[in-house]
Amino acid sequence: MMKILGCALIFALVFKTESMSIDTAIKNANENSMAYDLVSSESSRIVRKEYDILMTLDEYIEEEKERMEEKMGKRKKRKAIRDTRRRWPSNTIPYEIAASTFSSSALNEINAALNEWRTQTCLTFPQRNGEAAAIRFQNGDGCSSFVGRTGSVQPISLANGCRVRRIITHEIGHAVGYWHEQSRPDRGGFVQIIEDNIAPGLQFNFEELPTSQVNTFDVPYDYLSVMHYGARAFSVNNGITVRTIDQSFQNRIGNAPGLSFRDIKLANLMYNCAGSCPAQNCPGEGFVGKDCRCKCPTGDPNNPVQNCQGTPVATTTSAPSMSTTPPTTTPTTPSVTECGDMNRFCGFWAQFGFCSRSRYMMMNCKQSCNKCNAARVCEDMGNSCSWLRDNGLCDNRFLRNYMENSCAATCGFCEAGQLLDANGQSGASKVGSATLLFALPLVMLIIIGM
Ligand SMILES: [Zn+2]
Repeated sequence: MMKILGCALIFALVFKTESMSIDTAIKNANENSMAYDLVSSESSRIVRKEYDILMTLDEYIEEEKERMEEKMGKRKKRKAIRDTRRRWPSNTIPYEIAASTFSSSALNEINAALNEWRTQTCLTFPQRNGEAAAIRFQNGDGCSSFVGRTGSVQPISLANGCRVRRIITHEIGHAVGYWHEQSRPDRGGFVQIIEDNIAPGLQFNFEELPTSQVNTFDVPYDYLSVMHYGARAFSVNNGITVRTIDQSFQNRIGNAPGLSFRDIKLANLMYNCAGSCPAQNCPGEGFVGKDCRCKCPTGDPNNPVQNCQGTPVATTTSAPSMSTTPPTTTPTTPSVTECGDMNRFCGFWAQFGFCSRSRYMMMNCKQSCNKCNAARVCEDMGNSCSWLRDNGLCDNRFLRNYMENSCAATCGFCEAGQLLDANGQSGASKVGSATLLFALPLVMLIIIGM
């Protein structure tokens, strides 16, 4: 009899969890397992915010500082480097499951969520085999995950109530590197936060992330994301806390059945899933998938992606013209500030030596051009900088762009707070005087070449 009742209870719980918004399911699981909204103890130094995001106390403090600095108009770039490190190398996320924690149905849900990520992206999830960094599904207080790779075995806690595929997909999303959709720096154009309805003291759960922390890869804001919370998250009075500016989405946020088209696209871009595919333009919001075919939205949340026809980009024997940047990949939002490639052809162009010849490449293809450190270290990228400076060319209006990009250290164009390169001086000192004779023609060539 007890067994029947128990089964009925579990069935009711699972059924109910399936029908409630993602944040409500997580919140209920937190409350039932006595997890609180912001847990911080000096011993663990772990903070939980937005119901399910874990951070170290140090990270939380740093994020707060960045937010303040950004509000005050100061821009900081170093964070982006740290975030790049938080991606999983070789697109591989080893996983393990705490022994004897989950029922067979819960294990099925975990596997279904892993398979969803496996199918739609180029991420692989092998069973952990001694790797230092991995995710670990375990029981815990509530449901939670760190954002991105921490470098050690990081928990994905799944209390009762969170052991359904879409919630697990969401928590894996954090480990992959996703924040909550409603925290995006550009959310102001899409949702309005109704402060009056938020439980007192919980407003911090709706803070916008600083632009330095989020790389949207130009994927537009997504009401249908599995990372989006529902309309009443953190509500004190059951009133709406998240109002969608497009009202047709008001009842749809927080109810994603799994990864949305844009969720899938973001992971494919973040992990460069089409890195070895021939370049092609896909229609509309389409992107090139790991099988090198264009993927387009279907409009069906349960089956969000379909193959579509792309147009090959001419890649004969010569490199594509730098003057014809493909329109679909031109960065348009200022929120993309992480050191990375802003254009999916960066790697291709870099192979043809455009890094040293193109200002566009220096600005937008830092990853492919191995210039990610440039955000932290202000250094000279060109030769003969001292000679150019000594001849008064730092401020020459025709050379200004080149000098800013190539001789920033020598010409004193570094931003406040940036470091000079390791030697504290330009590369010119290492260059023989014979090369200096060629400096000016070289510069002219570069300008013409662009
Ligand atoms: Zn979450």
